[in-house]
Amino acid sequence: MIVPRSHLALAQLVEGFPGAVGNTPLLLLPSFSRATGCTILAKAEFMNPGGSVKDRAALWVVKDAENRGLLLPGGTVVEGTAGNTGIGLAHVCRARGYKCVIYMPNNQSQEKVDALRMLGAEVYQVPVAPFTDPNNYNHQARRHAEALDNAVWTNQFDNLANTQAHIESTGPEIVKQMGGAKLDAFTCGTGTGGTFAGVALYLQQALPETRLIVADPPGSVLYSYFTKGKLERTGDGSITEGIGQGRVTANMQAAVDAKAVSGAIHVPDEVTIETVFRLLHDEGIPVGASSAMNVAAAVLLAKQMGPGHTIATVLCDGAGRYASRLFNKEWLKNKKLLDSVPQDCLHYLK
Ligand code: PMP
Repeated sequence: MIVPRSHLALAQLVEGFPGAVGNTPLLLLPSFSRATGCTILAKAEFMNPGGSVKDRAALWVVKDAENRGLLLPGGTVVEGTAGNTGIGLAHVCRARGYKCVIYMPNNQSQEKVDALRMLGAEVYQVPVAPFTDPNNYNHQARRHAEALDNAVWTNQFDNLANTQAHIESTGPEIVKQMGGAKLDAFTCGTGTGGTFAGVALYLQQALPETRLIVADPPGSVLYSYFTKGKLERTGDGSITEGIGQGRVTANMQAAVDAKAVSGAIHVPDEVTIETVFRLLHDEGIPVGASSAMNVAAAVLLAKQMGPGHTIATVLCDGAGRYASRLFNKEWLKNKKLLDSVPQDCLHYLK
């Protein structure tokens, strides 16, 4: 529909894909709130136009590269990603006329790879390797960018424009949406650390009473880092995608330096899977495992803190990105997680 010129000043317009990023609702989760006697809130990041919280980071790192003169018209954006940042970048690149090259570990869901290819990104799925290995997907992305003219490696893990996205958008949105009500705790898991660090740094200034708790899946070192001061893995790997870390990224370090981390909470995969299905069945909210882990962390915190508290977290992306895994009996059985699906939710499985 073409908006008549005379109405343009009144129209609620945003400019293209980038203009639609952010301003997601803050949802009150009634069933989780009733069960805990607390107010459990969740930022619906799956409602971003590219489907995840990472649309914000993608837009900010591209704008930052443009502002620094690192990315000129017709240039190429190269990134290492578990998928969601890549999807956000692929959208932004199409909207701004850049090429998009994505390196990702080859253990991520096929749905994310398909979405990237559909958006015209060049995708390299590389064997899983730790950050210390030169073949880690991030180092491969860096080398690819270095070998091209007019290309930038956006380096989401250590590029503080990622945290800045959440200092400037997610954090202020949460505070505004709280409307002056007390927020006792904010918790979320971290991949790059951008979401946690940005929201935590903003809340530390705006709502200094709020406890800022890192939620951490099995196989990650951050729970041990924030509870014992040691970078040690807690448990083996996790089925969660996009979260869990083997190091303190520059984005997370920004929160550490500012003393914007009050503690950490470990969430086993069994609890995460149960929460995927409780969110779907009881709230009608189909989300991925990192979102479920965040809500599970909020529930664990509510139990620790006692009734009457308000706790906010993040719903990072939707379940559709993982349908072939989270809703697949065989896959869950292979991961020894089939028994964690609640009895009243077995009919969701294929
Ligand atoms: N959940 C999902 C599904 C993700 O893809 C990511 C990003 N890797 C995160 C959570 C974590 O966000 P951040 O990188 O801001 O820590």
